[in-house]
Amino acid sequence: RNVFVDAENGKYDIVIGNGILSDAPLKNYTDYAIVTDDVVHPLFGKYFPDAKWIILSSGEASKSMRNLEMIYQKLMEYGIDRRGAVAALGGGVVGDIAGFAAATFKRGVAFIQYPTTLLAQVDSSVGGKVAVNLEGGKNMVGAFYQPAAVIADTGALETLDSRQYAAGMAEVIKYAYIYDKNLHKTLMDSSGRIEDIIGRCCEIKADYVKRDPYDTGARMQLNYGHTIGHALETVAGYGTFLHGEAVAMGMIYAARLGEALGVSPKGLAEDTQILLKKYGLPVSAEPGILEEALKILLADKKAEGSRISFVLIDEIGHAVTPKLEAGEIQKIVKELCL
Ligand code: NAD
Ligand code: ZN
Repeated sequence: RNVFVDAENGKYDIVIGNGILSDAPLKNYTDYAIVTDDVVHPLFGKYFPDAKWIILSSGEASKSMRNLEMIYQKLMEYGIDRRGAVAALGGGVVGDIAGFAAATFKRGVAFIQYPTTLLAQVDSSVGGKVAVNLEGGKNMVGAFYQPAAVIADTGALETLDSRQYAAGMAEVIKYAYIYDKNLHKTLMDSSGRIEDIIGRCCEIKADYVKRDPYDTGARMQLNYGHTIGHALETVAGYGTFLHGEAVAMGMIYAARLGEALGVSPKGLAEDTQILLKKYGLPVSAEPGILEEALKILLADKKAEGSRISFVLIDEIGHAVTPKLEAGEIQKIVKELCL
């Protein structure tokens, strides 16, 4: 199954299928290096017998400036030139840092994504956002740099642990609420095949990316559940919740808020809870953590004055982005959820 991304800053295919890791498109490049991590390399390295490897430690801490420099050094040692390519084999961490390295090494070499987590297959490998973290600042240094191809082998997901898998499902559920009523039904009935579900999510993301390649407008809807979700991640300390778990809880609070404001249909929060539980995701944070998270909402990067563009669902499969007073959000969510 192929999904075509047709954005002004990049046109490329996302290929989705079971067992497709072996037929790599890297033949098009004179020379290439693959960035991966030390969990993924032993699992899938065998599919790339001729590769030059750059292997990071698994985990978010690897998305660092220090590793970025190490990657540049290796690319130089390996003699990768402008006709060469950099590939990412792994989850979003590897994809983000390899992508930024590809965007900047010799002012840009081709970039290929082989996402191996559900989150990377439905979200981070598509759309061209690449970045590394600074100490105390996630994704502080980055670029928009579209890949030349994305190869998503759904078979790779078999080794993913269930918590990571569920975290990826949170983004899938997000796409259903903001964009696709049929996907919502499919998820409720458990009637879809994972290849089709991933393919559908890629189509949805591709549509947002096409309309808003530089993330200045429509793409904001992809932040559904993320405003409070990010605050929860920050307060709990990175690593406490997986990103998808925080987004899951964020969608519940956003649904409650939307219902209270009369924007979202009655029963949305309940519906969201059912779906999240079905896929093994948390539906509420400890009161202390939620309270702290609401406090830092005012400092959220999306705040404009005290008004925040907040993504709400006005019907299942459709999102709106009203500007809300941070204080009002705080008050309503506190009243309803604490
Ligand atoms: P990750 O890359 O850390 O992968 C999660 C864990 O799964 C790691 O320990 C990894 O080693 C392991 N793993 C990967 N594939 C596996 C497999 N097939 N079998 C077994 N284990 C496997 O995390 P992630 O959730 O994939 O990505 C999170 C990152 O993505 C964050 O840094 C986030 O900022 C970024 N992100 C970027 C975008 C974007 O648009 N660029 C969007 C969302 C998230
Ligand atoms: Zn997300």
